[in-house]
Amino acid sequence: MSETIFSKILRKEIPAKIAHEDEWTMAFHDINPQAPVHLLIIPKKQISTLADVQEEDMPLIIHIHKVAQKLAEAMELEGWRIVVNVGEKGGQEVFHLHYHLLGWTKE
Ligand code: AMP
Repeated sequence: MSETIFSKILRKEIPAKIAHEDEWTMAFHDINPQAPVHLLIIPKKQISTLADVQEEDMPLIIHIHKVAQKLAEAMELEGWRIVVNVGEKGGQEVFHLHYHLLGWTKE
């Protein structure tokens, strides 16, 4: 697959407000937030879309969900939502797998 802007964020060639980083993933704030908290959780492995995820990637997918839980807890979100857009018709603009974490804090 060809590189996207998220590859440059992973290599820290362009700035992002990074909220989490580990061996497998990075999470950073969306540049155009659609909720009070809007993070993108991405794998370091280059996978274009959720449709391309293979059986061997399942530990990574589980890990992304755990990262979402930890971030929601750390950011004291009262409610949150995970969104994954798949394909152009599904609203995907950046073809590097990413999980939108949309969150709402206590009023
Ligand atoms: P999608 O439409 O699911 O592919 O989502 C792509 C998301 O990436 C959008 O919500 C954009 O606002 C976000 N985005 C694009 N460029 C950047 C960037 N440089 N830093 C942070 N978020 C970005």
